[in-house]
Amino acid sequence: MIFRGKTIHRVDEVAAWQLCCGCGACAYVCPDEIEMIDTSEYGRRPRFKNNSLGKTALLAMQVCPGIGLERVVKPDDQFGGQQFFDEWGPVLGVWEGHAADSEVRFEGSSGGAATALGLFALERLGMHGVLHVQSRQDVPYLNQTVLSRTRSELLAGAGSRYAPASPCDGLQQIEDAPGPCVFVGKPCDVVALRKAIELRPSLHEKVGLTIAFFCAGTPSTRGTLEMIRQMGIADLSSVISLRYRGRGWPGMATAQHKVNGQVQSAELTYEQSWGDILQKYRQWRCYICPDHVGEFADIAVADAWHCPVGEHQPGRSVIIARTQRGVEFLQRAIEMDVLQAEPVDSDILQACRPGQAESKGTLWGRLVALRTCAIPTPGYCGFDLFHLWLWRLSIGAKVKSILSTFKRIYIKKLFRKRNMASIESAMVLKAGR
Ligand SMILES: Cc1cc2nc3c(=O)[nH]c(=O)nc-3n(C[C@H](O)[C@H](O)[C@H](O)COP(=O)(O)OP(=O)(O)OC[C@H]3O[C@@H](n4cnc5c(N)ncnc54)[C@H](O)[C@@H]3O)c2cc1C
Ligand code: SF4
Ligand code: SF4
Repeated sequence: MIFRGKTIHRVDEVAAWQLCCGCGACAYVCPDEIEMIDTSEYGRRPRFKNNSLGKTALLAMQVCPGIGLERVVKPDDQFGGQQFFDEWGPVLGVWEGHAADSEVRFEGSSGGAATALGLFALERLGMHGVLHVQSRQDVPYLNQTVLSRTRSELLAGAGSRYAPASPCDGLQQIEDAPGPCVFVGKPCDVVALRKAIELRPSLHEKVGLTIAFFCAGTPSTRGTLEMIRQMGIADLSSVISLRYRGRGWPGMATAQHKVNGQVQSAELTYEQSWGDILQKYRQWRCYICPDHVGEFADIAVADAWHCPVGEHQPGRSVIIARTQRGVEFLQRAIEMDVLQAEPVDSDILQACRPGQAESKGTLWGRLVALRTCAIPTPGYCGFDLFHLWLWRLSIGAKVKSILSTFKRIYIKKLFRKRNMASIESAMVLKAGR
């Protein structure tokens, strides 16, 4: 990737320019040379082992979603026409509902749809496993990738984790599996998987289904640490479990910690945890993300935010089939009463995520401002961002999309690379407590 004299040819430089989204795919394709580390300020980032760059490390750039993505699907009438496609990507059907199993629905972030579909693949379709993430047992405020093979393992990972996670660092487990597996992740994780499939036909054969959830952005670990502090917990080593959501909709952020040998719970509402704290810590790459809605997955799931939401009501999801495989999978899951879901008009997406067109239009203005300052930006092919900027933003919003980015460039110091050595010194990954 070359931009006005600045050449990015290594994934550590992708991270240094804050273009890394932390998916972990580079560590999967180059396991001998790259590992993922947890940094408090930026999230999970690639690090070269032994500080050496071997030949295979160049493969890492080929799977990296941080430097760009390309829509290969073309719009047609089945996707609702050009304008709808520009905003939402391929949509072959939309349903609203929840897991039929009340425990799955309760444990899930919204309606438990992602977990229910994974369980359906395991228990009814005989798939081998579900690759997804869960809290680390030794350091509960960090995440790990797991290949779940049983109901209890899958349920242990249910619920959104608003913290850095790299599900693609576990793709070798799918490639080595004796049968097809399900992959669950953020939209950028699914893009990385798609890119990895291009390189590895043996991986392609083993991916039975991809599920992405709508994603407003990943907060850094520092966000989680601030959340724990605002829960009134001063001693991080006393934390024995941490959930961000679920167990009701949207559910409470809940930390369990030990005080004088007694287990105590501290809670914050979703508005307090995500609204007041975590969203302020989202990594920069998320501000210039073209896919917050899982366009590249077979199935995308989201909160049914258009419904009135209290603190503890049973959750509801919006579920989108984006491929024919996704349509068939969802229809079978509904027929076999794994999901209780009704088909709904695709107009519901606008109510569920208002401002989708404006968000993509604003992205065009942000990229223009960054390029004007000769700052490397990802390459996005096939997303007609300019037309969304031109037709869907007011004059004031057009101007703001560019001028506010100049301000951010200055405040966030986006005009210079981060020093990777200092990133490493900010590592928070410590096995055990
Ligand atoms: C960072 C983040 C931002 C989000 N932003 C939005 C948004 O803007 N709009 C919206 O509608 N929904 C958003 N969600 C998703 C939403 O919170 C629900 O997760 C979604 O509705 C799916 O719910 P579910 O009950 O079907 O999932 P569940 O059945 O609870 O399953 C969730 C699955 O996601 C996996 N997972 C959890 N956290 C992560 C992570 N950080 N990285 C990779 N995989 C993970 C789990 O391992 C699990 O398999 C976000 C989630 C995250 C983690
Ligand atoms: S976005 Fe993914 S592949 Fe690219 S550098 Fe970051 S972790 Fe590696
Ligand atoms: S906002 Fe985009 S780049 Fe950021 S974590 Fe979500 S999908 Fe990845």
